[in-house]
Amino acid sequence: MRLDQISTRLFNSGALACHEQRVLRAWVQRRALDGGRRPAEHFLPQSVRDIVPALMTELEGLARLRSEHPGEDGSSRLLVDLADGQSVESVLLPRDGLCVSSQIGCAVGCLFCMTGKDGLLRQLGSAEIVAQVVLARSMRPVKKVVFMGMGEPAHNIDNVVDAIEFLGTLGGIGHKNLVFSTVGDARVFERLPKMTVKPALALSLHSSIADMRAKLLPRAPRISPEELVTLGEVYARASGYPIQYQWTLIEGVNDSEDEMEGIVRLLRGKYAIMNLIPYNTVAELDFRRPSPARATELGRWLHRRGVLTKLRQSAGQDVDAGCGQLRARSIRIDRRRPATIVETRA
Ligand code: SF4
Repeated sequence: MRLDQISTRLFNSGALACHEQRVLRAWVQRRALDGGRRPAEHFLPQSVRDIVPALMTELEGLARLRSEHPGEDGSSRLLVDLADGQSVESVLLPRDGLCVSSQIGCAVGCLFCMTGKDGLLRQLGSAEIVAQVVLARSMRPVKKVVFMGMGEPAHNIDNVVDAIEFLGTLGGIGHKNLVFSTVGDARVFERLPKMTVKPALALSLHSSIADMRAKLLPRAPRISPEELVTLGEVYARASGYPIQYQWTLIEGVNDSEDEMEGIVRLLRGKYAIMNLIPYNTVAELDFRRPSPARATELGRWLHRRGVLTKLRQSAGQDVDAGCGQLRARSIRIDRRRPATIVETRA
């Protein structure tokens, strides 16, 4: 479901813009419609009040918690059921953050990611993206939303942009606390500067060498690392927020001296933060995580060479932390169940 479909239903019931905003704000901020002061009939026409209970029930059904997997770092990975029986992952992050999914599956097919294994299954509607925030807010406050879960946001840009505009206004989230994360796509650099709510931008680099990057991210647009950083720099200066470059650090793949020199060449002097994220080893994939000592050494080396570098861990790395792992595991479990049980759940 998309946000504009909700708006149309409210409009058809007789809602003016102010009524629509009141209903949608109540949904996304989990507030009572009457604000605890005056009854709803003081500010909503009867025809709107007639449809609100069923609408709210439907919106609650857009994202339901199937299971929660707390990590030791204060994060918690959520497996979330959608209304059609599909599932996505969201992650509650420390300090009131939330990582949301924008697609079921992903067409980019990064070699080190479970989500990319089966390609794209379907897009999430803008309301399904926002519904992940509403679900998370039933568990904890959410003041920051990063679009780093399942999917490539640029491949679902209309729905992601609508969700960001909504969250940055009725959702009450600060604009710099909305983070659009992408492998880099011309559409992103066209659309984001025109948005009313300008999100921060994270660019998944993973290699400074064009050929290696093309191998690791086989269906990412062919934008060279140099071009990507140039485009990123323009957006960083326009938005006022540094670009967060993402680098999944994989032993023997992109942790070489050449790669580190490449990062320095690309990012020194830029309005940027390099996030080194040691890869989480997954049984199904043939990549290895570098030792903590090696990751720390690389981070310090980059810092000394003038690149603002942060060593980050994937949230909840002590549970199934790689993006798409929870969903993949749940599907394997479902496949082992008798068909009748699966059908009942769906
Ligand atoms: S890492 Fe992101 S872009 Fe790459 S396949 Fe996974 S979800 Fe898609």
